[in-house]
Amino acid sequence: MKIAFIGLGNMGGGMAANLVKEGHEVHAFDLSAEALARARANGCAAYTSVREAVQGAEAVVSMLPNGKIVESVYSAEVIGQAPESALLLDCSTIDVDTARSVEGEAAAAGYAMVDAPVSGGIAAANAGTLTFMVGGTAEAFARAEPILAAMGKAVIHAGASGAGQAAKICNNMILGATMIATCEAFALAEKLGLDLQTFYDISSKASGQSWSMTSYCPVPGVGPASPADNGYQGGFAAALMLKDLKLAMEAAASVGAKVPMGARAEELYEAFSAAGNGGTDFSGIIKTL
Ligand code: NAD
Repeated sequence: MKIAFIGLGNMGGGMAANLVKEGHEVHAFDLSAEALARARANGCAAYTSVREAVQGAEAVVSMLPNGKIVESVYSAEVIGQAPESALLLDCSTIDVDTARSVEGEAAAAGYAMVDAPVSGGIAAANAGTLTFMVGGTAEAFARAEPILAAMGKAVIHAGASGAGQAAKICNNMILGATMIATCEAFALAEKLGLDLQTFYDISSKASGQSWSMTSYCPVPGVGPASPADNGYQGGFAAALMLKDLKLAMEAAASVGAKVPMGARAEELYEAFSAAGNGGTDFSGIIKTL
């Protein structure tokens, strides 16, 4: 399949490489010459603009930083340029309203489009083990599934347009809040004189258990290998967690939902990032507790 791929950064680079490995012809464009050179080394054909990359494409995949950029790329350079038969797949994490409006604009011009944000970081993008949460019609999902399966281990239809983004930010709001709760529980346990491995052995088998504890333990040397064992480097940057929490707060405000724990998590990650820790793994917030 001829697939245009827009945005070949930390995540998109590995995803495009996996499409090539599955036998797709990938036409790549990124504003960064360095990202484009890496894509070329991974077997993609490099183009000098979005418009050129989408010519004759059967599908267009994007992995871009934010909603503003997604909106401008699709409105100005994909819609009306790619063949109307091309399926459009935006895998970026963006706000629900922008996802819905871009999909509406695409539909009005005759395109099928899905929002398909991912769970899993750079390692999962490189390994082809991402989880995709997909918003769009059943028909568009059926077309998107085999393309996304080439880049991930799970592809789930979340519902109508925007539902993928909604699932993603609700999931990450749980993640942000449970990570902080897990960090403060370990910090309290230590102050109360508990051995942290012993506390882990108890809580990981009791009702305090969560993904933040048993798959991504914020305490070095406790639980499975995690960024904590690597000085809180690599993994999922605090700045990206803050981005997702801000999207969740925006979405909550737009529908009048009460999210006190998510709001507090956003405040704490805002302070953590402002103190120069934006590039630190998000579990590093334990150092402030
Ligand atoms: P990144 O900054 O590494 O990559 C984004 C790429 O888009 C860059 O190479 C940039 O040059 C390119 N770009 C920007 N504007 C462009 C334009 N107008 N046309 C073409 N290319 C353009 O970011 P990333 O870490 O790859 O994240 C991409 C998306 O994935 C974000 O929405 C992020 O929230 C989401 N995400 C990231 C992670 C992660 O761990 N990094 C995990 C899950 C989801």
